[in-house]
Amino acid sequence: MTMRKFLWSALVVLIGSLVYFRSSVVPVFSVAPPGDKIPILMYHKISPYSFHGGLGLRVPPELFERQMNYLKKHGYHTVSLDQVTDHWDKGKPLPSHPIVISMDDGYEDNYTFAFPILKKMGFSATIFLVNNDIGGYNLWDAGRMARSKLLSWPQIRAMKQYGISFQSHTLTHPHLTKIKPAAAQREICESKTQLEKALSMPVNFIAYPYGDSDVEIDKMVRQAGYKAGISTNQGQNNAGTDRRRLKRIRITGDVSMSDFKKLLI
Ligand SMILES: [Zn+2]
Repeated sequence: MTMRKFLWSALVVLIGSLVYFRSSVVPVFSVAPPGDKIPILMYHKISPYSFHGGLGLRVPPELFERQMNYLKKHGYHTVSLDQVTDHWDKGKPLPSHPIVISMDDGYEDNYTFAFPILKKMGFSATIFLVNNDIGGYNLWDAGRMARSKLLSWPQIRAMKQYGISFQSHTLTHPHLTKIKPAAAQREICESKTQLEKALSMPVNFIAYPYGDSDVEIDKMVRQAGYKAGISTNQGQNNAGTDRRRLKRIRITGDVSMSDFKKLLI
């Protein structure tokens, strides 16, 4: 092969991989219309093990993979919550069929089982962490729900490097409206600042543990500098949705593929 031919092939390979990479993260060719509804899927555990709890909070990896395959095949593009709010507030374009994949609590199985599937699809996700229990267990569920290991810092860093976004799910996973205002304030503010410091990335979103929030909590969340609060209210979102309570679509382990398709409509 001549030098000239070699350089041409190298250039073609380079451009090809750039186009492939961009298309898996931010496709440039088709753009979502501004008024489109945006679904935020809500997952918790992605695990095959029944000792990790019932199907209310646990989706077996095989089902998760079928769901991700469905999204891929039907032209969905995963986006971050920052991309969504920038689209609504600043008119920044989003790819066609945008969707946010979110996971609450930060279970280790998100790394073990969900992460390889997300990577295979070229998908991103947003994980809401409980700061004080990182590397430990879901202490807030003690005596009520199955005990499961949570993500460690090295696992979080590896996922962050790939492009997974990490946001706040408070420090200790309390019912925010049932603790003293000063304690709620600490849960809201310190989880944000600690995560930002540890991961060197902005933390602009908080998912309320148990979906529990009220006007006082809304005020603290706004004052702490979050762009939005994420609820467990069922539904999809558009630019007019209340930012203090963005809605989600709960995905449980007993959702059939036909239910999954209907939930996205
Ligand atoms: Zn939670």
